Amino acid sequence: MRYLKFSYKGQKGIGLLEDNCVYPLMNNDSWIKSMIVFLEENYPVKRGESISLDEVKILSPIEYPRRNIICLGKNYREHALEMKGKITDAVVVPDYPIYFSKACNKTIGDGDIITGHKGVSEMVDYEVELAIIIGKEGVNIPKNQVKDHIFGYTIANDVSARDLQKDHFQWLKGKSLDGFCPLGPVVIDKNDVMYPPSLGIKCFVNDELRQSAKTDELIFDIDTIVSDLSKGMTLLPGDIILTGTPSGVGMGFKPPKYLSSGDVIKCEIEKIGILINSLE
Ligand code: MG
Repeated sequence: MRYLKFSYKGQKGIGLLEDNCVYPLMNNDSWIKSMIVFLEENYPVKRGESISLDEVKILSPIEYPRRNIICLGKNYREHALEMKGKITDAVVVPDYPIYFSKACNKTIGDGDIITGHKGVSEMVDYEVELAIIIGKEGVNIPKNQVKDHIFGYTIANDVSARDLQKDHFQWLKGKSLDGFCPLGPVVIDKNDVMYPPSLGIKCFVNDELRQSAKTDELIFDIDTIVSDLSKGMTLLPGDIILTGTPSGVGMGFKPPKYLSSGDVIKCEIEKIGILINSLE
């Protein structure tokens, strides 16, 4: 099953996507308007009447995250190596998961424009990532129960201002500019892909392939990430965890290939879809 958030004739809803049709999910005859509510309430839902996909605008599946998006740094070996000495002189390939967060008031959806922030950053970069959506609250989750707590997966672009990451040492600011988290276009049910997912993950900039890997090439796998994160820290339905990006980010090239105004960034994960955004 593929879930999406959409707007149609001025109304927003959560729906199922099947054969280019959107089926709004309903409770008590009204559309469910938020993925977090859908995940938390666990009430019986029914399908509304189908709407053609062409007639809706696809929105980010979780437009307003309930708290910061949790991210993994340096979680693909080749990416860890390409970033050696670029942001910090800290460990090249980490012994423990590196966590940071995107303080993201509003994520953006497929087709939305990424704000350029001219005068704030001159080194805007892209990072395609597999995003985990938590479905069930949990703390101290053993590795063998991690899958039970996952609802599904989507695609994220962890847009990054490299100059701000360097200037401020801590990554929060450089990762959290407005519009820096495109998400979507759909959330695929965890049961519709193998576990852990082994899916092709790619990023194109203006049709030039920049990143290409498989989502099971993670240094710290999904069981490790979720289990470790949840030690003493409750994970909640709707929490978003970005699992890290493969090599091929703009900063990794010599000379670097940062994004320019008008560039089109296409993030693709097999079975989930394609998330396309351009830079203002
Ligand atoms: Mg990242």
